[in-house]
Amino acid sequence: MASSLYIHIPFCLTKCDYCDFLSVPFDEAVAKRYLKALKREIRLRGGRTLKTVYIGGGTPTMLSPEAFEDIFKTIRDYFELSPGAEITVEANPGTLDRKKTGALVGLGVNRLSIGVQSFSDAELRMLGRCHTAREALRALKSPAVPNISLDLIYGIPGQTMKSWRQTLKRAIEAGPMHVSAYELTAEADTPFYEALIEGRLDSPPEALVVEMFEYAIEAFGENGLHHYEISNFAHHGFECRHNLNYWRRGEYLGLGAGAHSFEDSRRSKNTGYVFKYIEMLSKGALPVEESVGVSAEDEIKEITFLGLRMTRGINIKKMGFLAKAAGELIEDGLMLLEDEHLRLTRRGLLLSNAVAVSLFEKLELG
Ligand code: SF4
Repeated sequence: MASSLYIHIPFCLTKCDYCDFLSVPFDEAVAKRYLKALKREIRLRGGRTLKTVYIGGGTPTMLSPEAFEDIFKTIRDYFELSPGAEITVEANPGTLDRKKTGALVGLGVNRLSIGVQSFSDAELRMLGRCHTAREALRALKSPAVPNISLDLIYGIPGQTMKSWRQTLKRAIEAGPMHVSAYELTAEADTPFYEALIEGRLDSPPEALVVEMFEYAIEAFGENGLHHYEISNFAHHGFECRHNLNYWRRGEYLGLGAGAHSFEDSRRSKNTGYVFKYIEMLSKGALPVEESVGVSAEDEIKEITFLGLRMTRGINIKKMGFLAKAAGELIEDGLMLLEDEHLRLTRRGLLLSNAVAVSLFEKLELG
């Protein structure tokens, strides 16, 4: 049974131009109905002992301290929390203040993941974010939270090496225990994608994006934040346990609209329509839209694809055939076999998807 719980809160103040996550504008009446449905789903699916809880979105911190109290009370009533469980809440700097942070800590939250994205106001405007760099800095000064993670984005149109260096400098000075740095990608049907297609925006040159990624690895590494996953850096012992479970292909339970679960070799997904989610639970039905068994072939693909995201790589003790198939990729300097682990080299990390696909071809996996 899964020992990791994800809860999706699909509300945001405004929609960021590049975002394709499941989120709708915050509406108090809808949020109230959603929380009622969410509590029903928690009651229906409880009965597990949890090592990690991750409340993500959307923008969970759109919710009031009272709403969080309600959610955590229901979680504690229907699940067992292991001692020392990692409890994360995602936060947007524009929706976080001392009172809310204090309330979250009081409820047992021991990790905040703050969506800073950039310390340049011009870049934040370009991304359509609803907060400023100053608000992000204020949010990062929450002494009550022992473990703060911040999210950054690189490869933003108009972003220069100078501004990225400045963002990294400020991020490091803020002293987070964990940082996620993502390359901006153009997801279909977003205003950002449309602007690129219509030529109103230009993507930065690929060489610059690579330089930004490599600079981040160096800068974080020099400051004790080791690179443990393609986009993630942490001080030793502060790697995100919830996400490590995904990459290690552990089981997890996802509650809320659009949330995914993986249990008993089945992957399932809740409906992504907020009103349908509310309606189904009001009738006492589980809001599951899709549930498929994972084939043996898919299992190998998942282990490979997810495992290669981690800089440690894949333990090949029971998967010697992977090392065999990787022969040419190792010769080409894209992969490395070390300590019974198969992993991507620095060059391989830059081409991770292509390397995984090439490995699947060698394994004759479609
Ligand atoms: S705050 Fe996050 S989830 Fe909400 S619109 Fe922006 S990127 Fe999407």
